[in-house]
Amino acid sequence: MNIIKNLVPSSKYNIKCPYTMNAQFIVVHNTANDASAANEIAYMIRNNNQVSFHYAVDDVEVVQGIPENRNAWHAGDGGNGRGNRNGIAVEICYSRSGGDRFIKAEKNAAKFIASKLKEKGWGIDKVKKHQDFANKYCPHRTLDMGWNRFLNMIQSELNTSNSSGQNTSTVLKRGSRGTQVRYLQMNLTGLGYKGVSIDGIYGPGTESGVKRFQAAYGLSADGIAGPNTLNKMDSIIGGLQNNLNKLGYNVGSIDGVFGNSTKNAVIAFQRDNGLTADGIPGKNTFAKIEEVIKNKDSDKNRLYRVQVGAFGVRDNAQKLVTELKSKGYDAIVVQDKGLYKVQTGAFSKRENADKLVVQLKKDGFEAIVI
Ligand SMILES: [Zn+2]
Repeated sequence: MNIIKNLVPSSKYNIKCPYTMNAQFIVVHNTANDASAANEIAYMIRNNNQVSFHYAVDDVEVVQGIPENRNAWHAGDGGNGRGNRNGIAVEICYSRSGGDRFIKAEKNAAKFIASKLKEKGWGIDKVKKHQDFANKYCPHRTLDMGWNRFLNMIQSELNTSNSSGQNTSTVLKRGSRGTQVRYLQMNLTGLGYKGVSIDGIYGPGTESGVKRFQAAYGLSADGIAGPNTLNKMDSIIGGLQNNLNKLGYNVGSIDGVFGNSTKNAVIAFQRDNGLTADGIPGKNTFAKIEEVIKNKDSDKNRLYRVQVGAFGVRDNAQKLVTELKSKGYDAIVVQDKGLYKVQTGAFSKRENADKLVVQLKKDGFEAIVI
């Protein structure tokens, strides 16, 4: 997706963005208009109203009008309002009439916001709506269609960018610096590789950690974190986060970065399952997670069957079926391990099977749940 800059001239800073800003979150708006992103930004720059926003997104591109290190007037919460002074404003275009252009614009906005969260190392909780800061129903069409739906769109962008190889061209090695290096260091440390400082600088400690990681996962142990290594790490951490979330241990967003929430979830899981609760997922922890997930899945698929009798001779089973049917029960004969079993029901919930057993016993049948 194209991101085009058409920044307000500094001569208009006093009107449009008078304060420097340390951005802390994103504020989502709908334009309530039918203009393109380029036109929204051009108009915003041209007029002399104290109305401004950092980005406008339409069905084809993103246009930036205000630098991220300056505030914008968009949140309606006043000169010292948190929204106006700390939020990066993103306007989604074509919301007045809606339709296909808006649908596409909203999708682009979800993508753009996901990439912004990645860049900043922020979670989904950093995505706010105009309505959070002022009594205004904005982003109106996005709200009409469902705010959580929009957050889910962003989350799934985050998930795909993690699992589908957002690292395809990234190579981190001795001397590399920055957020990606920091994430790598957090992941190595989280996985228990000692001697890695989390400082965003790829030094000998990080290199050694990468070598050990590569050796452990059958990659060529050259100490350079290229696409294979980074994707492997992404899939291990992302998979771990996904599984912990599934099991009800809240790791927050599945971002492929081993932060505190992931560590705490690992500790809680280890504690609940009789493992050493050190927050480092070693072989035993990974194996246990797999096992618990497997059991949970088979629990979910299991059916509780009510059996009224089991016979060596089919005719006897058939007689019982006839008798059950005469009293209004549905019954079938199931052949299993040389026996003819008479069953009257199969339930995904144990309590429903138990209820049927009680009723059958009242009618004089012997029944058990299998
Ligand atoms: Zn708004």
